[in-house]
Amino acid sequence: MSTLSIFNPANGQLVNTLPTDDAASVADKATAARAAQAAWAATPLATRKSCIEKFRASVVQDMDALALTMTRETGKPVQLSRNELNGLLGRIDFFLTQVDGCLATETVMSEGGMTEQIEHIPLGVVANISAWNYPWFVGCNVILPALLAGNAVLYKPSEYATNTGLAIARLLHQAGVPQDVMVCLVGGGEVGQALLQQRIDGVFFTGSVATGARIAQAVGNRFIKLQLELGGKDPTYVCDDANPENAAESLADGAMYNTGQSCCSVERIYVHEKIYDAFVARFVATVNGMKSGDTESADTYIGPITRAPQIAVLEAQVADALAKGAKLLTGGKRGPTPGNWFSPTVLVNVNHSMELMREESFGPIIGIQKVSSDAQAVQLMNDTRYGLTAGIYTPDQARAQRLLAQVNAGTVYWNCCDRVSPRLPWSGHGDSGLGLTMSREGISTFTRPKAWHLRSA
Ligand code: NAD
Repeated sequence: MSTLSIFNPANGQLVNTLPTDDAASVADKATAARAAQAAWAATPLATRKSCIEKFRASVVQDMDALALTMTRETGKPVQLSRNELNGLLGRIDFFLTQVDGCLATETVMSEGGMTEQIEHIPLGVVANISAWNYPWFVGCNVILPALLAGNAVLYKPSEYATNTGLAIARLLHQAGVPQDVMVCLVGGGEVGQALLQQRIDGVFFTGSVATGARIAQAVGNRFIKLQLELGGKDPTYVCDDANPENAAESLADGAMYNTGQSCCSVERIYVHEKIYDAFVARFVATVNGMKSGDTESADTYIGPITRAPQIAVLEAQVADALAKGAKLLTGGKRGPTPGNWFSPTVLVNVNHSMELMREESFGPIIGIQKVSSDAQAVQLMNDTRYGLTAGIYTPDQARAQRLLAQVNAGTVYWNCCDRVSPRLPWSGHGDSGLGLTMSREGISTFTRPKAWHLRSA
């Protein structure tokens, strides 16, 4: 029997070891989910909602333990783990208040004995292959609306967040969701691959572009729904009329929160030359004031890198930037061992010949580039294969909206960053992905329309 060992990225210690799924167990669980789905879909929506309400209550009740579980396997500082769990509650409330309207059958015409209706039926059995960086958010963005809409869910959490994935499934089962309707599969990419071989009606993936491409290829010759929430290289432009100190403090948080391991982390900053020096000085001072260390201490803000191999990516981006003329203002190196530490890093004199400004860093590292005009900033913001989020800092709303209208991104921010709302669609342009989660459409995406033509006799 193969196993998965989970190590704490903060200190390298073994957390626990779990038996993993294999091709046979994945096939058995997929078959059981298929058999159980129709009864779940036939369960009244009020009953399905009541399960999710009980699940919400368990998250509140067990929050301290759930936060520690996530902290010990991902390295996320415990105050950020609690932030994620608290943030989840608002998402659950949104799904619960909106689901009735999203699933209600619509009568779009009724005259002369003829009625036309649209029914919103579940997709069926959906696969959710997920990332580790916000495991409660990215897991539940799919699992909860999918279950509410009457689907069975085969959930493969990241191998770096499996204890959290198992906790999500356990709490849902305790809340009344049948075991075969909500299934958590344990293992790495090979278990994800086995899942894709099953008879499924949709794949909802959160993770890297490279894996997203493999998943698209694996299901490419089957006509099932495919959603991909992938990486980004999210830019922000600070205009000449912005307050440089306020913008620097806000953007330092946007770049370093979750140790830079957010899909919508600020990854590139362009600052107008008029306020560049003041911005950079406050940015570096803010970063140098961020507390790193004991991830279980309530005031720690910077944690370790969750996946050890990512440290080499960060080192390579720094070396490439320095070789091409960048200047390092702070950080740039591994932290103390044991554990996967990398110090928060700020580079200036950067340009788009550098990997740092082109490819996702997914760590506590940022390049700040000086620009001389709005047009130059917009051109640089759009010089990317990604398109997840982008932002502008200026007191002038009309200027921000005019510029952001020209930027190719699924989400745009005025005077804010690294922000997600359950009321708004979360989607990527370009290589940042396909499809969406959240908003009312993020519930409807787990349904398919069925058209009814009804003629009374
Ligand atoms: P990853 O691609 O390495 O892994 C994601 C999941 O895919 C894991 O569960 C993994 O086991 C599984 N997997 C790996 N190979 C597979 C295969 N061949 N077939 C099926 N499944 C396979 O990504 P990660 O390191 O977990 O997550 C980090 C990435 O996720 C970053 O690029 C980040 O930007 C992105 N992300 C995007 C969003 C978003 O909303 N757009 C949100 C969070 C994270």
